[in-house]
Amino acid sequence: MKIIVAVKRVVDYNVKVRVKADESGVDVANVKMSMNPFDEIAVEEAVRLKESGLASEVIAVSIGVAACQDTLRTALAMGADRAVLVQTGVEIQPLAVAKLLKALCEKEEPSIVLVGKQAIDDDANQVGQMLAALMNWPQAAFASRVLVEGNVARVAREIDGGIETVEIRLPAVITADLRLNQPRYATLPNIMKAKKKPLEIVTPEVLGVDVAPRLKVLRVTEPPKRVTGVKVLDVADLVSKLKESGVVA
Ligand code: AMP
Repeated sequence: MKIIVAVKRVVDYNVKVRVKADESGVDVANVKMSMNPFDEIAVEEAVRLKESGLASEVIAVSIGVAACQDTLRTALAMGADRAVLVQTGVEIQPLAVAKLLKALCEKEEPSIVLVGKQAIDDDANQVGQMLAALMNWPQAAFASRVLVEGNVARVAREIDGGIETVEIRLPAVITADLRLNQPRYATLPNIMKAKKKPLEIVTPEVLGVDVAPRLKVLRVTEPPKRVTGVKVLDVADLVSKLKESGVVA
């Protein structure tokens, strides 16, 4: 049983992002980039399925510029067996990612595709769902527990009211939520070993996928600055301050 796991290179979650002066997007020049945190969880889950003998091979896939190789090397150091970079300089939107993953699924025939529930840069939360639709495969989004038995996966999903457990037939798409596991750190020996693992580079053209953006970003702006708060003495003071500021009549 093969597993494909998608890993996106994003601005590190510790970085405070800045909006470009012309409001065309976020400034990523000289900013630390890392693997999308939900994708680390997806890689960990794939590697655990392999370690438990349920999966035979874990293939990490990233789509983007040449530097995504670093993200793939991290996935390899965590335990993936090989990696595929779909290299492109074009801005890649979720539908294009889903189409590229579909092309790779047709080639590799995995039993499970694991992706993060969302990328922390675009916050789209779309790729897993779109891929399942394009492949006409079952999907379990926001997984907090995955149990594989034969050609079925029992997945506990985080939903608004609590946890929902679904049973899906494989092949299927699973998207990883925060509580699925605690991803391991790549150790130095494993980082060294990862350098020798196979990393194939393909292009969207080779996969026959049109990745032209379908959505246009009109403007990216900073959230409004928070105004300083004031301390109130008691409820009466609170009500009078609210009246003064016109919040209540
Ligand atoms: P999104 O729908 O954009 O929020 O992304 C959901 C998940 O799709 C991410 O957590 C990744 O697992 C995967 N994904 C999105 N974009 C890429 C990319 N450029 N390369 C690899 N995986 C991606």
